[in-house]
Amino acid sequence: MRRKLAAGNWKMHGLAADLAEATALARAHPAPTVDVLLCPPATLICRMVGALARTPVAVGAQDCHASVSGAHTGDISAAMLADAGACHVILGHSERRADHGETSAQVAAKATAAHAAGLVAIVCLGETEAQRDAGQTLAVVSEQLRQSLPESADAENTVIAYEPVWAIGTGRTPTLEQIAEVHDHLRGLLPDPAIRLLYGGSVKPANAADIFAIANVDGALVGGAALKAADFGAIVAALEAAEGGAG
Ligand code: PEP
Repeated sequence: MRRKLAAGNWKMHGLAADLAEATALARAHPAPTVDVLLCPPATLICRMVGALARTPVAVGAQDCHASVSGAHTGDISAAMLADAGACHVILGHSERRADHGETSAQVAAKATAAHAAGLVAIVCLGETEAQRDAGQTLAVVSEQLRQSLPESADAENTVIAYEPVWAIGTGRTPTLEQIAEVHDHLRGLLPDPAIRLLYGGSVKPANAADIFAIANVDGALVGGAALKAADFGAIVAALEAAEGGAG
C-alpha cells in the first residue's frame, strides 16, 4: 500500500519567526500515520531541520540545480540541499516552469541530480486552463510525465504532483471526477505503479477530505494552506482519516 504524503510548499514565504508554525504543526501531530513534509525557502531549511529535529515532520526544498557544483551564481545543488538536511525537493513546479522557462528535460536532469544526492524528487506537472479548455489535459500531462521523469525514478525516490496550473493559488479546483480522471490516467503511465501521486491546487481544510477520498490520490502538495499550522494540520488530519478509511 502506498503511504500517503502531505507536502507543504511555502514558496517565497517565511522568515525565522514563521518557524513557529512548523513547530506548532509538529506539536499538534506528534505521531502522524501519514508522511508530513514542509518545503520552506532555502534560507530556512537548516533552521527548520533543527527546529523539527526529533519530530516526524520532514523538511524539503523547492528546486535544485542539475549540476553537483560549479559556476552557477545563485543556484543550489541537490547535494547542498541534502547537506543542509533536506530529504525531498520539489521540481518542475509550474511557477518555475513559467517564471524561469524550465523545460521537462531540465526537470528530468534535476531529478537525476536529486536522486544522486539521495533526495526524493517531487516532480510537478499540470495543464493550463487553455489546454484544459482545448481538451488537451491528458495529452499534456502524459507528455510532461514522459519527459520529466528520469530513468532512475522509482517509488522510493520519486513522487508525482498533478497540479493544474489554473488551480494553483486561485481557490479553484477541478471537479472530483476531473482529478480522478487525470490520476487514473497517470497511474497507468508510471514506470513504477507504487510511485505516489499527489494532487495540488487550492487544497484547503474544507475540500481535503473529498479530494483524499479519490482512489488514486495519495496525498497533496499544498501551497497557501501550508503556511499556517492549523490549516495544514487539518489537511494532515483529513489525509490520516482517508488512510484509515482505505486501510
Ligand atoms: C502549490 O504551490 O503547489 C500549490 C498547490 O499552491 P496552492 O495550494 O496555494 O494552490
